[in-house]
Formats: sequence, structure tokens, C-alpha cells
Amino acid sequence: MLGAGVVGTTSAWYLARAGHQVTVVDRQAQAGMETSYANGGQISVSHAEPWANPHVFSRLRRWLGREDAPLLWRWRADPAQLAWGLRFLGECLPGATRRNMAAIVALSLYSRQQLGQLRSELDLHYDQLTRGILHVYTDPQEFAAASEAARLMAGFGVDRQTVDVERCLEIEPALADARHLLVGGDYTAADESGDAHLFTRALASRAGAAGVGFRHGLSVDKLAVAGRRVAGVVASSAAGPELLTADAYVVALGSYSPRLLKPLGMRLPVYPAKGYSATLQLLDGGRAPTVSITDDERKLVFSRLGNRLRIAGTAEFNGYNLELNEVRCQALIQRTRQLFPRLEIDGPPEFWCGLRPATPSNRPLIGATRYDNLWLNTGHGTLGWTMACGSAAALTALIAGRRPDVDFPFLKC
Ligand SMILES: Cc1cc2nc3c(=O)[nH]c(=O)nc-3n(C[C@H](O)[C@H](O)[C@H](O)COP(=O)(O)OP(=O)(O)OC[C@H]3O[C@@H](n4cnc5c(N)ncnc54)[C@H](O)[C@@H]3O)c2cc1C
Repeated sequence: MLGAGVVGTTSAWYLARAGHQVTVVDRQAQAGMETSYANGGQISVSHAEPWANPHVFSRLRRWLGREDAPLLWRWRADPAQLAWGLRFLGECLPGATRRNMAAIVALSLYSRQQLGQLRSELDLHYDQLTRGILHVYTDPQEFAAASEAARLMAGFGVDRQTVDVERCLEIEPALADARHLLVGGDYTAADESGDAHLFTRALASRAGAAGVGFRHGLSVDKLAVAGRRVAGVVASSAAGPELLTADAYVVALGSYSPRLLKPLGMRLPVYPAKGYSATLQLLDGGRAPTVSITDDERKLVFSRLGNRLRIAGTAEFNGYNLELNEVRCQALIQRTRQLFPRLEIDGPPEFWCGLRPATPSNRPLIGATRYDNLWLNTGHGTLGWTMACGSAAALTALIAGRRPDVDFPFLKC
């Protein structure tokens, strides 16, 4: 297993449970240290609307030229960025959006159910809350469009209920001071939240105890191939290079998956979409929300993680750049202060950014490749935490030659 993010770690667990002997390789010192480290924490089937949709152009026009824009495209002399952008445009057609949404909802529903089973089976604790997700709107037009999306989602089996402002405040009283901003919301009671990093660490520890090997501090440099098979992984650490061999290989390197596969002539449509988060330590609960919230206007999510509040979101297409932009960091805090002016926090915010492995369709790449013993589980974009358990369970079925229990366009060789 190449990669110990939430996707690689869940894959390792499901494969080991199916009887495979698994070794996970990752360049970091422990599991879940890159994009799975400080994300928005939402298990959000209700968030399955892909970025590529017919409404995206009017939104982009509104945000044009703003350094704190929820979605920011920085042009680079990068053919991969251009190719990704062109494919993205194709996915904005209504038919493509509908197809993508159906696939993402199916996998996310399956994944949420798998996560619930795993949590009770292993008694996992990761600051989880099963209080649903409330999506709030401050723009009447966006709220109207949301009712349309809710109807569409209902057809796919998501119980996302349109609610008025009073009901929003009943669901989450901590929003009371923002009443004047809100025009409505929608609530998905079955959605959840929790710390993806804590989950990944907890599962890695259980996997280790069950016999999964973890090789941390080892960078995967390239794949050696012989005909239609991968013959080994060339990896390196401070001790020097080494060749690792196995019967089969799974690539779960998040945004870095395309870099490994490009020399093999495989051009994965995965591009890094940088997002930010701020984690606030609360003073005894600090009048913070306990229901996870999505703020439609700024495309931010707010998740209560124990005695912390995580604010996360925004997307910036700027290559593999991981610098923290102060304007974008402060935009998270300003919006938090607008929605929760009486929030009581202890100490400065912890800012972070990570690279979502985004595909133009928002659909992850799961399944076989043209190499007989090479499999992919990558490209989960905005919903990697939501889709991790389902993707891992489905990959395990595919490797066993079985049809997964979910209807999704898996990769075929
Ligand atoms: C701001 C933000 C908010 C988000 N909010 C949510 C949310 O609320 N809900 C949700 O479902 N999703 C959310 N996401 C998306 C989610 O975090 C990602 O989809 C998910 O973490 C991707 O997991 P991964 O395992 O594929 O990638 P990663 O977590 O990045 O794991 C890849 C692993 O591969 C390793 N690696 C990479 N290259 C190499 C190499 N060459 N050699 C060795 N090791 C290597 C890395 O060290 C890493 O551990 C959010 C993302 C961001 C950025």
C-alpha cells in the first residue's frame, strides 16, 4: 500500500481483514500527516454536489479578483493544470453533473454506513459527533438553487431537508447571533463529523496490532515495471534507496499519485486543490456549535472536534504550493467572528493547508489499471474522509474479483 493517508490506511485495514498481508509505505513519520491531517471533519453525503456544475461560472464571476475568494484559480505555465481545467469544463454540463452526483452519493452513502460499522466493531474514538450537518445560506438565490439540489439528492436517497431560519436556530442555537444573515438552510440528520487525523491514527494502530506493517519515513520514488506487471517500488530514506516487492501494489498517494504514475505513461486527471483550515481551542465549549455547519456563502465548514472548533474550506489551484497565505487564513477567522461573535477561544488559531487530490468530476479513481498487479485508490478531492471506508471496502472486493456492494464507475483495465 503506497500512502498512509485516510484512504491508504482504510484500504490497508480492509485488505488485511480480507486476509491479505499488507505493508504500508509513507514518507511521513506517522499516518494521516498530509491532506488527512486537519480537514473539515465532515462525513457529508449531503455535500456530494461536484464543483463542476452549471452554476459554477456565475459563482466564479462573483469571486473574480478576490484574494480571499472561496475558489481561486492561479494560472501557471503547467500543461497538467490546463488539461485538468479543460476536462473540468466538460464536467459542468448538466448531464455530467447529474451522473457525477449520482456516483458520489452512492459511494458516500455506502462509505458512511461502512464507517459506522467499523466504528462500532473496533470501538474507535476520534472526536466524532453524529448530530448531522446543517448547510446555511445567506443568499436567497443560492438558497433557491439548493432546494433544487435537495430534490435531486432526494432522488438519489439522501434525506437533505430544506429548513427555514427558525429551524436552523433550533438545530444549532449557537447560530443565534447570525440570525440577521441567514435566509435558510438544509439539514441532513444522518451526516456526521469527526477528526480524520485521529481516526487514521487510531485505525493505523489497530491495523498494526493486527499485523499490517508500516514503513514510515520512506519516500516512494518510482515503480519498476516488467511487461504488464509492476516488479517493485524504488523507495528511499536517510539510509539510502531500497527496492520493495509485493504481489500487488495500491497507489493511494493523494495529490502525489499522478507524479508517480506519469513515467509509466499513465496521466491521472488529479490536480492539487489547496484548502485551508483553522483550529481553535475553545474555553469550556466556548459557545461553539456542536452540529457541523456548512456556510454556503464562503464555502466553509465548521466542525466541533471535542473542545476544538475546526473551520475549513476554500480551494486554490496553484500547483503543489503549500505556503500559508495570510489573507486566506484571516478570512476563516473573520467569517467565524461574523457567525459566532461570542465564541470564547483559548490561544491563537492553528492554521494549516492541504492539497485535495481533485479530479475534474470529483469522482475518485478506484480500481484496476493496465498493469495486472497495480491498483488505484486516489483522487478523492473534497470528500476523501467521507468516501474513505467505502472506497477501501470496494477496492478490496475488486481485488478479490468480486463486484463491490455499491454502484460506482470503478476503473477497469
Ligand atoms: C481544507 C480541506 C478541508 C477538507 N474537508 C473535508 C471534509 O470535511 N470531509 C471530507 O470528506 N473531506 C475533506 N477534505 C478532503 C480530504 O481531506 C482528502 O480527500 C483526503 O484527506 C485525501 O486522503 P488521501 O489519503 O488520498 O491523501 P493524503 O492524506 O494526502 O495521503 C497521502 C499519503 O501519501 C503520502 N505520500 C505522498 N507522496 C509520497 C511519496 N512519494 N512517498 C511516500 N509517501 C508519499 C503522504 O505522506 C500521505 O500520507 C478536505 C480537504 C481539505 C484540504
